[in-house]
Amino acid sequence: MNKRIAPHKLNFDTGWAYSPAPESIDHVHIKDQYKLFIGGKFVAPKAGKYFNTINPANEKVLARVAQAGATDVDRAVNAARGAYDNIWSKMKPAERGKYIYRIARIIQERAREFAVIESVDGGKPIREARDVDIPLAAAHFFYYAGWADKLNYAFPCRTPQSLGVAGQIIPWNFPLLMAAWKIAPALACGNTVVLKPAETTPLTALKLAEVIEAADLPPGVVNILTGDGSTGAAIVNHDDVNKIAFTGSTNVGRIIQHALAGTDKKYTLELGGKAANIIFADAAIDQAVEGVVNAIFFNQGHVCCAGSRLLVQESVADEVVFKLKERMQTLIVGDPLDKNTDIGAINSAAQLERINAYLDLGQEEGAEMFQCGGKNPDKGYWCQPTLFTNVAQSHRVVREEIFGPVLAIQTFRTLDEAVAKANNTQYGLSGGIWTDKGAKIFNVGAKIRAGVIWANTFNKFDPTSPFGGYKESGVGREGGMHGLSAYLDLH
Ligand code: NAP
Ligand code: MG
Repeated sequence: MNKRIAPHKLNFDTGWAYSPAPESIDHVHIKDQYKLFIGGKFVAPKAGKYFNTINPANEKVLARVAQAGATDVDRAVNAARGAYDNIWSKMKPAERGKYIYRIARIIQERAREFAVIESVDGGKPIREARDVDIPLAAAHFFYYAGWADKLNYAFPCRTPQSLGVAGQIIPWNFPLLMAAWKIAPALACGNTVVLKPAETTPLTALKLAEVIEAADLPPGVVNILTGDGSTGAAIVNHDDVNKIAFTGSTNVGRIIQHALAGTDKKYTLELGGKAANIIFADAAIDQAVEGVVNAIFFNQGHVCCAGSRLLVQESVADEVVFKLKERMQTLIVGDPLDKNTDIGAINSAAQLERINAYLDLGQEEGAEMFQCGGKNPDKGYWCQPTLFTNVAQSHRVVREEIFGPVLAIQTFRTLDEAVAKANNTQYGLSGGIWTDKGAKIFNVGAKIRAGVIWANTFNKFDPTSPFGGYKESGVGREGGMHGLSAYLDLH
């Protein structure tokens, strides 16, 4: 079982192997340096500071990006306020909708370029960026464009009113998609925006700024500020911001909640997760195993709602673990731009260090660790898919979010035990149920304290469907009609 496999040389009995199939990058244009997008123009940061964004698959610098300070945040909020007061809040909703449609269409037209940039800046496989991130980002703009002139129908007998300026702070795991989740509903509801992407993945947000320029949005409606945590904090603490939308870690979410306590700013927080994927003995086992691979290994486990815990009914546990290990040997870790790649680069050196610390910790705690022993590329940040078995509920690898391709497996005997174990966590973002019985899906689904439950599938997203957490996974919902109310005052 512990076979060593080199990338692209799957040494299977059948003898087949993949040849490298790299995505073409000739059509991609990345500038050497990017400024801040404020008031419809790219402007230099006041303090003149820039930082590098790198490709985590080869550690090469892709571009220099502006570091926004408090003065730049102030300029951006003022631009957003001006655009809100003078143009956007006064515009006919149907006209607002047309601008949002235009953004959606331009993203679709430039989808191939966006996909490559998402892949090189963040390390995710091109397959994921091309098939999931970029089409879904466009779909969110299309979906919310349709709501712009129908808010009264979404909230009958109420008077929906925009909030003003929304400060939006997003993480590095789905950079363009998170920007779309934030910007599209905010604009549809008549708000203007100041958005800060994560430090390690600023490029698709900056490309989105170019799209917004091309869509001819009135200056100041969307402002994009690159920077670090201090830029995010300056947005949160700015007096003239009416709403904060944050996606990121539970720790930073807590800091933001403290900062907002006692103010009249509205907020939504989308935070961490430690989802349980539950496989019952009556499930279609091969499908379930594939679902588990999709839930935790694809996209390097860099998914807030990843199924990072697996609960398997005892009678099928050996079979599931055997099949999972077999499937893991066929997973290709390597060049994110190769269309065959399943698991790309870990987003940053710091994240890899965090994951590796958990791999050591799991073994120190007494868990059994399994990896296939594939060879990592020489440069860049990599982690082979990893299983922990023989774990206890008290182990930190079972309790804490690792945010890497690491799965902790536990067993259960009864349905009640599965539910109790699944709910024994500080988080409540998502969960998965694998069973042949529809009644069991409804029974267990109703008992799991999590915002999203997938049944016989995992990690499926749609703009019409709300997303968000229970417990320490967050406050509020994004997506669907629920996502509108987060950007409105409803009288
Ligand atoms: P993070 O460290 O919390 O950062 C998220 C964003 O906040 C980044 O833009 C970051 O800037 C910024 N930030 C850092 N400190 C801040 C502060 N004091 N005030 C305001 N903003 C600040 O999270 P991450 O490591 O980038 O992302 C991983 C986490 O996001 C995981 O926990 C994951 O579960 C969660 N996540 C949740 C969802 C969801 O929908 N629930 C979706 C995706 C990810 P820098 O980049 O410069 O640090
Ligand atoms: Mg980068």
